[in-house]
Amino acid sequence: MLIDTHAHVNFAAYKDDWKEIVEKCLASDTGIINVGSQLSTSRRALDLAQKFEKHVWAAVGIHPVHLKAGKFVHHDIDEVAEVEFETRGEDFVWENYFQLAQDEKVVAIGEVGLDYHHFQEGNDIQALKKKQKEILLEFIKLANEVQKPVMLHCWDGYDDLLEILQKNPVLKKGVVHSFIGSHKTARKFIELGYKISLNGIATYGDSYNRLISEIDLKDILLETDCPYLTPRPLERQMRNEPLFVKYVAEKIAQVKKVSVEEVEKNTTQNAREVFGI
Ligand SMILES: [Zn+2]
Repeated sequence: MLIDTHAHVNFAAYKDDWKEIVEKCLASDTGIINVGSQLSTSRRALDLAQKFEKHVWAAVGIHPVHLKAGKFVHHDIDEVAEVEFETRGEDFVWENYFQLAQDEKVVAIGEVGLDYHHFQEGNDIQALKKKQKEILLEFIKLANEVQKPVMLHCWDGYDDLLEILQKNPVLKKGVVHSFIGSHKTARKFIELGYKISLNGIATYGDSYNRLISEIDLKDILLETDCPYLTPRPLERQMRNEPLFVKYVAEKIAQVKKVSVEEVEKNTTQNAREVFGI
C-alpha cells in the first residue's frame, strides 16, 4: 500500500468528482490524508474521512497564507502554472480546531507553519512573521494537547521553523511537507525527529536527486499536494490526484537505485508510525 500523506481532495478542484477520485485510490490500495488549510477545508477534510470506512484520514489547521486577507498568486516551482486565489484572512479559534482535532480520523495538525514567500509589496513583514509564529505556537500547543503530530508547511523560513521546533517540542513530532531545502537542512529536521515529505517537485529534473540520495528511506514520506504539483512524467498542467503518488515513489526508487516496492514498504511504514494509522 502507498499513502499520499498530503492531499487536498477536500478542495473545490474536486467538487464534482471527489468520490470517484477517492474510490479509485482505495481500489488501487492507496491511502489518503486530506489536509485542511483553513477552518472550512479542515472541516471538509474530516467530513471526507468520515465517509470512508478506512484508509482516508484528515489533518486540520490553518495554512500561514490564510492568516492574512488578500489575493495570492501561487507559482509552482518552475513558474509554469500560476494559480491565483483569494483568502478572507482567518483568525485562529482554539475551540473550533480543538473540537476537530479530537476526532480519531484526524491524524495530524496541519497544514500549519511559516510562509515568507508570499509576502507582497506594502506588507508589514515583521508583523506578518510575528503573527505566523504566534499561530504556529498555538497549533503546537493544540498538537500536544491532543497528542498528535504536526504537518508543517514552510517556504523560505526553515531556520525560523527549526528554532521554533527546538524551543517548543512537539511530543509526537511530525513531518515537514513538500520539503524543498538542501540535504543539510533536511538533516537538521531529521535530527529533531521529523520526517521529510516529497512530492512532484522531486520529479522535476535532477535538482532534488542529491537530497533524495542523501536522506534515508526511513526518514521519507510520500505525498502529492494535489491538485497542485503534478509529477513527471505527467503533463504539469494536468490536475494532480492522490493516485499519482506512485510517480514520486518511482522517482525515489530510481535515484536511490532500489525497487519501487522497497520505497513503498518503507514510506508506508513511516506514515503508519508518524500518524499512528
Ligand atoms: Zn498542501
